[in-house]
Amino acid sequence: MRSLSSKLAAIAPSATIEITDKARRMQAAGIDVISLSIGEPDFPTPAHITDACIGALNRGETHYAPGRGIPALLSAIADKIETENGFPCTSDQVIVTCGAKDAIYEACEAVLNPGDEAIILDPSWVSYEPCIQIAGGTPVHHPLHKKTFQVEDSLLEAVNDKTRMIIVNSPSNPSGSVLNRESLRLISDICQDHDLIALSDEIYEKLVYGQIHFSPAMFPGMADRTITINGFSKAYAMTGWRLGYAVAPKEILGYMNKVQQHTISHPTTFAMYGGVAALKGSQQCIGEMRCEFERRREFVLNRLMDMGLGYAPADGAFYAYIKIEGDDAIIANRWLEEAHVAVTPGVAFNTPGWLRLSYAASMDTLAKAMDRISQIV
Ligand code: PMP
Ligand code: GLU
Repeated sequence: MRSLSSKLAAIAPSATIEITDKARRMQAAGIDVISLSIGEPDFPTPAHITDACIGALNRGETHYAPGRGIPALLSAIADKIETENGFPCTSDQVIVTCGAKDAIYEACEAVLNPGDEAIILDPSWVSYEPCIQIAGGTPVHHPLHKKTFQVEDSLLEAVNDKTRMIIVNSPSNPSGSVLNRESLRLISDICQDHDLIALSDEIYEKLVYGQIHFSPAMFPGMADRTITINGFSKAYAMTGWRLGYAVAPKEILGYMNKVQQHTISHPTTFAMYGGVAALKGSQQCIGEMRCEFERRREFVLNRLMDMGLGYAPADGAFYAYIKIEGDDAIIANRWLEEAHVAVTPGVAFNTPGWLRLSYAASMDTLAKAMDRISQIV
């Protein structure tokens, strides 16, 4: 057989999914592995959301829907953006996708030409680089400040004539850090001075502890050049629903819609009714989950401190990004094989020398994991 796609040969599998699959295989073989390697809320999806989906299923909402999503969800998202994120948005600027990941991929396809560069701020989530590469673009990595994890003036050095896009992710996966107003102002200035697009992945916006989340599109002049990505996975514990969305200027959105029409058509019809209930129903569930994450965060960070382990500013999301001495891939493997705790090595996020631990697990599980880790470090 002739060789397959050289583009895909060059792309690594998703480390978060691979490691978690390995942990699952070990569990299936009877080994008591604690999996803290994937970012997934352990809470059930709130009942009013599942009820809305079941209602839609029972009503027969089992057929094709409009390509960008059902009108009720498009307008619920536009309302949410205007009231919570502080920039103008109409329904025709919204596309509902199969998770935020799909929206990121569609955005890369819509914007990038071969040779176009897209800047990724490291540490960065595993799928940005592959989405850029699959779309034919060239990823360019630039580090955030090593201690504060904020944007520095040196970002300008990464910009050249080929630069087309900057990916922003705050709160960050994997570091948990939250970009402050100054960092976002710098990004906004650079985007406007150099005619760049900002792709802002705000999937963790609801999980912020003692900081404020800012959307890049709310900065003057930015709404016209920002693709805002969000979804239901993290805020509403809906990872398996595969429901996300993007808000973008109409021209970009039209191109994203072409990708959608020719690939997935649209997300699952009855799942979208759950999305409407999530946005239009009581938001109390988010507050409750956020409170519980905050309690776990404090517990995990204290235990890490007791062990003498340092970590990145954990002001958001549900990750502790732990600084370690030595090869992170080898250490993560040792933690898995010997302590039976699965975490993700920093090399997966373009920052060797770190381990990402997800504290989206019950207190009992976290306590057991921290005991095991303290014995091995
Ligand atoms: N962006 C980031 C930073 C994430 O951590 C995730 C989690 N998988 C996603 C996007 C994709 O989320 P979704 O489940 O909505 O595809
Ligand atoms: N975002 C989660 C993580 O980073 C889910 C897995 C994935 O999609 O990469 O663990």
